[in-house]
Amino acid sequence: PTMAHSEALLVLENFIGGKFVPCSSYVDSYNPSTGEVYCRVPDSGKEEVEAAVKAAKDAFRLWSSRSPLERSQILNKLADLIEEDLEAFAQAESKDQGKTVKFARTVDIPRAVHNFRFFASSILHHVTECTEMPAMGCVHYTSRAPVGVAGLISPWNLPLYLLTWKIAPAIACGNTVVAKPSEMTSVTAWMMCKLLEKAGVPPGVVNVVFGTGAKAGEALVCHPDVPLISFTGSTLTAQRITEKSAPHCKRLSLELGGKNPAIIFDDADLSQCIPTTVRSSFANQGEICLCTSRIFVQRGIYNEFLKKFVAETKKWNTGHPSDPTIDVGALISKEHLEKVRNYVKKAQAEGARVLCGEGVDSLALPPGNQKGYFMLPTVISEVKDESCCMQEEIFGPVTCVVAFDTEEEVIERANNVKYGLAATVWSRNVGRIHRVAHRLQCGLVWTNCWLVRDLNLPFGGMKASGIGREGAKDSYEFFTEVKTITIKH
Ligand code: NAD
Repeated sequence: PTMAHSEALLVLENFIGGKFVPCSSYVDSYNPSTGEVYCRVPDSGKEEVEAAVKAAKDAFRLWSSRSPLERSQILNKLADLIEEDLEAFAQAESKDQGKTVKFARTVDIPRAVHNFRFFASSILHHVTECTEMPAMGCVHYTSRAPVGVAGLISPWNLPLYLLTWKIAPAIACGNTVVAKPSEMTSVTAWMMCKLLEKAGVPPGVVNVVFGTGAKAGEALVCHPDVPLISFTGSTLTAQRITEKSAPHCKRLSLELGGKNPAIIFDDADLSQCIPTTVRSSFANQGEICLCTSRIFVQRGIYNEFLKKFVAETKKWNTGHPSDPTIDVGALISKEHLEKVRNYVKKAQAEGARVLCGEGVDSLALPPGNQKGYFMLPTVISEVKDESCCMQEEIFGPVTCVVAFDTEEEVIERANNVKYGLAATVWSRNVGRIHRVAHRLQCGLVWTNCWLVRDLNLPFGGMKASGIGREGAKDSYEFFTEVKTITIKH
């Protein structure tokens, strides 16, 4: 890859104790739509993490003693400031990640704003428990207190969206944080740091250390003064984090990958189901943990579904992320693009059919984007359940469509993967929806829709998709320690 000569490289700095601090070494960050290095990200390690944890520890006493209302006002102010800069954040997220500006503008950044507003509000409404034992002359009640310094580690697919989903509840509860965004998508976190002082976030409450997982991430996970880690990323990394944090018995929240099924019964409203399932397969280039990648269609409507689904997929345009007519931007990296393409090749080698996209249709890119990491939305059929394309998380614009006959059969096949994050079920039969939803092994089931979220309710996965849940009450419980106090009169 060549360097971007036309513009100066953007150089990020860590944000520790309320100040931007340069780092002694840096890693390159690429613009996925051009394949050029455009940004340098601190390559932090133990030393930087140590300084950030110290700043967070120093800030904890004062921050944790503020009232929820004071903290709530600061979170709301931060939300307002991000919202004022929404367009700049959306442009930056697109350039850094490869996603379309349209998506960043309507999904990523508004959600980051909403995360702060949501927890600014929900923190005011928690009630703790109280019980009485008149015969003993006792009352019992519970109190909740922030845990301390929270370590927050986030992935590259929804950078600011997922990072703020952790920062907001952590600081709303009175913790201080050391956050480490993905080294591939660090820019919007750095931009957010510039707003913290103006929002009234005291120095040391939010510290951001940039760098790789192996160096900066692991230093955070292994730090003895960070009792809690909230991690979103791959199952493999989560296993490593679990191992590394075990000697310290850390509290972990792990939001991991998925291999999410869509189950489409023959009474489904296809006029809704098809566009939504195309979206659930290819939104954000298929780089959302909740994306559909196994579509089970009941035999009677299989041919009709497949024909319409492929036609609808072909309406999704791939190209320059800031072009408003584009729906599919660039994948995160050259390595990831190769990995996703290899899955399609493997499926073909196994005898599956590629109905559209990779290797079948041609992709015309603007001159400036020839070296970008683009790939057409790809639909695969006639693929066996045992195939790696039906078992492993591809995390790109690839979806598989297969036929099924009975309800019993499809439940078993849908559950037959190591993951258990989300599923969608399409039917007009409410009894069937309930039966199927109850038996699916996953943390979220959407019926006749996708990605409709109420942040009050638990979010998270079963099996290899994670441990723990996040949401209003769940995040509050995760980011606080509970104590039972008994008083005898
Ligand atoms: P990843 O596991 O490679 O990296 C995630 C983060 O962990 C990054 O910040 C990375 O630098 C850091 N990291 C890597 N190795 C580490 C280590 N040894 N110690 C500490 N930190 C380390 O994941 P990714 O490729 O960035 O993201 C994609 C994955 O995230 C997919 O599997 C996707 O499904 C998952 N994801 C899950 C959810 C969810 O809510 N369940 C949401 C989005 C993405």
